[in-house]
Amino acid sequence: MNPIRDLVSIVGDAGLLTDEGAMAPYSRDWRGMFHGRPLAVASPRSTDEVAAIVRLCQQHGIAIVPAGGRTGLAGGATPDDSGNQLVLALDRMNAIRDVDALGETITLGAGCILATAQAAAAELGLMLPISLASEGSVQIGGAIATNAGGTNVLRYGMARARVLGLEVVLADGTVLNGLRALRKDNAGLDWKHWFVGSEGALGIITAAVLQLVPATPHASTALLGFASCDDALDGLRHLRARLGDSITGFELMARAAVDRAAALLGTASPLPDQPWLVLAEARSALAAIEQEMPDACMALIEREIIADALLASSGAQAQALWRLRESLAEAEAHAGRSLKHDISVPIARLAAFVAEAEAMIGAGWPAVALNIFGHAGDGNLHYNVIYQDDADIIGLSAAVHDLVTGYDGSISAEHGIGQYRVEELSRLTDPAELALMAQIKRLFDPSGILNPGRVIPLASA
Ligand SMILES: Cc1cc2nc3c(=O)[nH]c(=O)nc-3n(C[C@H](O)[C@H](O)[C@H](O)COP(=O)(O)OP(=O)(O)OC[C@H]3O[C@@H](n4cnc5c(N)ncnc54)[C@H](O)[C@@H]3O)c2cc1C
Repeated sequence: MNPIRDLVSIVGDAGLLTDEGAMAPYSRDWRGMFHGRPLAVASPRSTDEVAAIVRLCQQHGIAIVPAGGRTGLAGGATPDDSGNQLVLALDRMNAIRDVDALGETITLGAGCILATAQAAAAELGLMLPISLASEGSVQIGGAIATNAGGTNVLRYGMARARVLGLEVVLADGTVLNGLRALRKDNAGLDWKHWFVGSEGALGIITAAVLQLVPATPHASTALLGFASCDDALDGLRHLRARLGDSITGFELMARAAVDRAAALLGTASPLPDQPWLVLAEARSALAAIEQEMPDACMALIEREIIADALLASSGAQAQALWRLRESLAEAEAHAGRSLKHDISVPIARLAAFVAEAEAMIGAGWPAVALNIFGHAGDGNLHYNVIYQDDADIIGLSAAVHDLVTGYDGSISAEHGIGQYRVEELSRLTDPAELALMAQIKRLFDPSGILNPGRVIPLASA
């Protein structure tokens, strides 16, 4: 039996890539940290074709690596170099099947691009509030499989909070059809949550029903300067106390990270005397927010919680501030090589963590530079370290992760585990939790063909 010929008979010639050049974009991850050699890249058009591919792979013992927009930052969608892993690309399953204005739901194929889904919701005065700098490439299936976070989590939660229903193909080819657009459904175990954040290791997500929210056309954006990280978190507490859920974004940025981004954009670095900056945004369906947010900021300046502020007075100014925020990662890439730590700790302990980590790195790894930014309203920091030489970072990541664990935090707040952090997950997770994950993996995928070695350490699976 020839699996390639059988794959062509399922997806057609146009749906199968075997040429090395054509497969190149699927053979590396977004950052270029992981490289592999796929057996082939199959792009099915329907759920039935996905099921047929999965059954074929079971028969031949071929591992499947699901791939969405391939913007993942943990190497989960990149095959290994065995030449025996099939990349299953959901690109062609991109239909928007339904948008329901009254129920505020959208039903779409897993391959639909996040930005396309957002635009479809906006046409009906609704919003899909999953917001990532990569949203022009991210697919809905990838966003769900990674339980994506982003800049709207403070108010709307992570991708999981959007998922009302899923259609999933299991490892034996069974199709679970749970495409129900229900807010309330307590009929039995709520199995869809097992697949959210499972990074392709438990099943292939082929379609989803997502909960939308009313649009918030009125916004007020401000860049706030703080004397310390502690003050910034105090500012968050006061702004939420005054404006409640209208605060949709609270993006903390360390001075050095902002300076690098401003240099990349060729602009002056804003609020140059402030060691910590926050890009804060409040949104509402009501125009009053446009006055309430500046009023709240002025009150906090008077109380010396906010040291300085730049209030955007136009949409263009707000966009420029967001451009600065969204350039932080690119500016980091220009500054050298970087070690990324996507960590979270309880918000009340975030400032103490930042201070202790900085002292620890300064003492033990003096040749590196810190590049700290993140969704601090969620307790999530991208605690990144820029370095030039491998010898300068020996043991650094393990030390950061140990410290995070000591603060009852997480070594992956939103990017997932993939291949990148699987050893650290294994090292730092309670054995009872690891054993439970391995049991669940065996239950869903007894022969281990779905994204092996990702998320769940191979030794425990
Ligand atoms: C510039 C930039 C900014 C980013 N900002 C954020 C951010 O703010 N917050 C955040 O959370 N992430 C962020 N990310 C990371 C990334 O965009 C998210 O993890 C995103 O959700 C991945 O979606 P994707 O479609 O690209 O998935 P991929 O990278 O293709 O896949 C990710 C994982 O999901 C699995 N998978 C993909 N599709 C399916 C499917 N249909 N069924 C089952 N498994 C599947 C893959 O096997 C892999 O393990 C950013 C990335 C970049 C490049």
